Amino acid sequence: SSAEPWRSFNRTRVYMADLESTLHYALRVELAAHSLIKGEALTSLKNYIAVLAKYFPGRSVVMNLLKSVNTWLQNQTADHISYEAFREMLDNTAQVPDAALPEGERWVGCQGSQPHFRRYPCGVWTLFHVLTVQANSAGASNPHEVLSVMRNYVKNFFGCRDCADHFETMAREGLRTVSSPPSAMLWLWSAHNRVNSRIAGALSEDPHFPKIQWPPPEMCSSCHAASSDGEHRWNTNRVLSFLSSHFSSSRILNDYLE
Ligand code: FAD
Repeated sequence: SSAEPWRSFNRTRVYMADLESTLHYALRVELAAHSLIKGEALTSLKNYIAVLAKYFPGRSVVMNLLKSVNTWLQNQTADHISYEAFREMLDNTAQVPDAALPEGERWVGCQGSQPHFRRYPCGVWTLFHVLTVQANSAGASNPHEVLSVMRNYVKNFFGCRDCADHFETMAREGLRTVSSPPSAMLWLWSAHNRVNSRIAGALSEDPHFPKIQWPPPEMCSSCHAASSDGEHRWNTNRVLSFLSSHFSSSRILNDYLE
């Protein structure tokens, strides 16, 4: 495999290059496996693009593209679309001015020590956390808006089918308890930590990025509550403020963008 140059990065920050690479991979690689998109899959694609057009904290050129793809998709009244037609809109062959989704993957915070580690799945988690935080700070009224859209995208399209089945089981069991946008942020954080603990030490783990219960004390000491009985406890109020700041649009770094 051709070795890409390593991009040095700050492990405590979120990078726009990872989020854009995630959109590129989802919409140009993952979706391309479906030459015809119909039924429940079409509904979940429409909802995914609608949520991205609403909450993705992207550069204006990317937002213009997401909005034009969204308008086009919402106007499709047939029960199916071809991936080819979707791809024409995505590559902006209709010539909407100043609208584009950059081609290719440029992983930064989601780089792996080997090409088969991290990357897209890391980008998906990062994107999902960013979207729950954006929905909360935008004052969303429906706490399930973002989570149900991710759940259905994962169920219909996510390439790792085992992951999708596990995620669907967690969502089926747990989403009832989500009653507000902050509790949606916390549900996703906690689901992600459950995945981390289930797959810690597996062959899929990048040895340079071990699976931990996140955020570690070095990143947020007050997130970890002191306990007299030796049991670890989270201070969920502190976790919530940490997530709000860590994934906030104003802290996303623009290094390595095209
Ligand atoms: P990731 O777990 O991908 O996390 C990315 C970044 O998010 C981390 O670097 C860290 O900065 C931050 N982060 C870590 N934990 C949290 C947290 N709790 N809350 C907020 N931010 C956090 N792999 C499997 O082998 N089996 C599975 O069943 C499985 N299910 C998956 C389900 C989904 C929906 C997704 C998106 C991925 C799944 N994966 C699964 C892949 C796996 O979870 C990792 O994404 C992959 O192994 C890459 O790990 P990573 O080291 O880049 O960190």
